[in-house]
Amino acid sequence: AFGAAVRALRSAADTGAPVLLLAHVNPDGDSLGSAIALGLALRRLGARPRVSFDAEPFVVPRTLRFLPGQDLLVAPGDLDGLGAAAALVVTLDVGSEERLGRLSRRLAGARSLVVDHHASNTLFGEVNFVDPEAASTSVLVTRIIDALGVELDRDIAAAVYTGLVTDTGSFRFAATTPAVHELAARLLATGIRHDQICRTLWDTHRFGYLKLLGQALERARLEPELDLIWTWCTESDLRLAGIGYDEIEAVIDTVRTVSEAEVALVCKQDGGIWKLSVRSKGAVDVGALCTTLGGGGHRFAAGVSSSESLAATMDRFREELVHAPRLSR
Ligand code: 5GP
Ligand code: MN
Ligand code: MN
Repeated sequence: AFGAAVRALRSAADTGAPVLLLAHVNPDGDSLGSAIALGLALRRLGARPRVSFDAEPFVVPRTLRFLPGQDLLVAPGDLDGLGAAAALVVTLDVGSEERLGRLSRRLAGARSLVVDHHASNTLFGEVNFVDPEAASTSVLVTRIIDALGVELDRDIAAAVYTGLVTDTGSFRFAATTPAVHELAARLLATGIRHDQICRTLWDTHRFGYLKLLGQALERARLEPELDLIWTWCTESDLRLAGIGYDEIEAVIDTVRTVSEAEVALVCKQDGGIWKLSVRSKGAVDVGALCTTLGGGGHRFAAGVSSSESLAATMDRFREELVHAPRLSR
């Protein structure tokens, strides 16, 4: 599929028609970083890349506004005004069509390429370049950029690094192979300010976030019989703290640090539904668990949405967790 992916991009670039690069809803550093990295590379080939994702209003998450190539961004509602049908629609870090939100309709009748590293990927593209072994989608994008013969410049490197450092948990998770460190070295050699990138990604919370985190930690529940630590944040918590939904992504990173539980969960209320962020230290495949519940993700980092009450959502989650097989390590 790698060769087919490169051929599809090359021929789309040659048509001169727009190439649509789509990230998933609530885009993270890997999804948006990958889309922008590929967009910058395609532009260097003379193509007309456009990057989009579903968000209402259409705003880039605060921590990702430093990414270069923001001029590639087009709001979903403005895609029809591009003047020509897209030569190719490429999805980056998108495990299934639903993860595109309202942009999933862009796939109908278009040539499509899926570039992703989710084991749960449903292979919804015409060409699917999916490698669950890859530490990030941005690793796969780098392989494509190299094959296209585009030099990895500083702007592209910053976008690729953002995906890599995000999805490896700052080079701590198991997917961090020697090749990952070799790629990181190559990216740093372009002169990117990795210290500033990491500071922007993680050390730019507002004061209200600390208060909300304190509240989430205060009410956290340890359920030793399920090997589970969990907590929740409501929309009214966010309102009172004066912060946005995209600012509470990191709550799970603190919750998962307790030693007494293998599985950590944060339920985040957004638009009346509960979005679950789930992490595993290795004993449980939470990607499979969330896929069963209708969501998806990776073995040790996954998520799912629920329109039920918090109590009902937790009952369903516990029911799956209690039956989840234990992985040998
Ligand atoms: P996070 O907790 O950071 O939002 O998500 C962790 C992982 O789970 C990500 O790789 C993301 O792609 C996946 N994920 C999160 N929420 C959902 C969901 O509702 N559906 C699916 N299919 N995957 C999700
Ligand atoms: Mn992602
Ligand atoms: Mn990813």
